[in-house]
Amino acid sequence: MSNSSIQIGTAVSQPGGTSYGSLRVLDLPTGGHEEIPVIIVQGTEPGPTVCVTANIHGGELTGIACIHQVLASDLATQLRGTLIALPTINPAGLQVMQRFPYYEPKDPNRVWPGYKNPKSNGVPPAIYQQVATQIFDAIVATEPDCLLDLHNASIDSVPFTIRDRVLFPPQPSAAQRKQADDLAEKLEWLARAFGLSIVNESPAAKYVELALHRSVAGSIVNTAGIPSLTLELGMGMAIDPPAVSAGTEGILNVLRAYEMIDGVVEPITQVPVIDLGFQVRRDDSARAPISGILQSVVQPGQPFAKGDLLGRVVDIYGRSLDGGEITATADGWLIGWRNGIAVYRGQPVASLAVRDDDPLTGPQPE
Ligand SMILES: [Zn+2]
Repeated sequence: MSNSSIQIGTAVSQPGGTSYGSLRVLDLPTGGHEEIPVIIVQGTEPGPTVCVTANIHGGELTGIACIHQVLASDLATQLRGTLIALPTINPAGLQVMQRFPYYEPKDPNRVWPGYKNPKSNGVPPAIYQQVATQIFDAIVATEPDCLLDLHNASIDSVPFTIRDRVLFPPQPSAAQRKQADDLAEKLEWLARAFGLSIVNESPAAKYVELALHRSVAGSIVNTAGIPSLTLELGMGMAIDPPAVSAGTEGILNVLRAYEMIDGVVEPITQVPVIDLGFQVRRDDSARAPISGILQSVVQPGQPFAKGDLLGRVVDIYGRSLDGGEITATADGWLIGWRNGIAVYRGQPVASLAVRDDDPLTGPQPE
């Protein structure tokens, strides 16, 4: 709760003003530098600090547009506290419209919090991993109350919020258990405030196996102990105005929930918000049983029950194939189909949200 000076790179906050600058993170082999653009909006009154990051996957553009929208109003004069916005934390992906930075074909959203991760000992750091270290340290040094990381998923997918699992040590003390429970509660509050459909990450063991604790939000939650959400704002590679509007409203909702701006949290109406009355988690169990051409039956946003036909695989002539049915393995709703219709046997074909009975906190696998 302060409006003391905040600095990231060359951006230095000014009470009642918006500051622009950049964080130099990488020297380029041919000269020049990779710079992460930074915007700091500081109110005249003290209050919480909210950090928003976007575009770690270079083709995921909606978050950039959302940040521009949030800043379009004269926010600094209305704000209590500080909003930090990093419109792209992967300029080298944005410039070439690719998920990965052009200098390295690795997912930049699986190497956080950077080189300090103990598993990196003795292993040379990935290039982006060194970039991530600097961004992570710069953000955590500002002691934000929360971080919102903006992404996109497949074409026609329903925007949703991913809620990370909160990990605790394998033999936790009562205090460590309570710390994890408290953080999970804060995540619940934050996700409700943002206002999109809430989908939990995979259960703890799979979450770590997939290195999702090393995503931006995962590392902010599980290394820094700060609430953070991943927001999947519909399709990437283009701007979808309802998704931009929903994402913008969600960010403003978080500022309202923290009482950083006036007003109450507004329901998201620009996109469907699905709540089946039970918790759901991300699931990729809808796989092509055989190779062929995918036909969808259930559409994005639609609920389904265990055993329902979600879609089928037919041949290139459109004829049905034996064993081509794709059925639901649990109750849930369909977030979106993967892009493309030519599928190979075993390939995940849809992003599902299915009933989740696992706890929101879990032990860090040894
Ligand atoms: Zn992404």
